[in-house]
Amino acid sequence: QVFVHRNMANIVMPYDVNLMSCLQYAVDYLEVQHIIVCGHYSCMGIQAAFNKENFASPLENWISHIRDVYRTHLKELEKIEDPMAKRRRLVELNVIESCRTVYQMSIVQNRLKQTDPVQPFATPRIHAVVYDVADGTLK
Ligand SMILES: [Zn+2]
Repeated sequence: QVFVHRNMANIVMPYDVNLMSCLQYAVDYLEVQHIIVCGHYSCMGIQAAFNKENFASPLENWISHIRDVYRTHLKELEKIEDPMAKRRRLVELNVIESCRTVYQMSIVQNRLKQTDPVQPFATPRIHAVVYDVADGTLK
């Protein structure tokens, strides 16, 4: 069974009350063992952030988080010459950064501390996944 929350460009922000409510319900009440942050290649939200165009609020505010990811990984991304490959890597980095944000949330940290020490790994485990809409593969 999968409990799903979706938003534009799979951005994880602690001030997103919808996302935080879903996460709290999944972790505290459903006691999920795994959290998957799934992005996808050819994401128009990533594409919008990748372009230098300044959108009006609230879209500009939302995708500014992806531009923050770009700035954080500027050295790596600037080495990629192919624009398509660069956008694909930005999709992956956005998922990784979203996973880091999930990991740092108190809802998740509190559950991790409660994991029975005899278990092989603390739960919930967080997985970074990218879906390729072109061929249906998960990376
Ligand atoms: Zn998308």
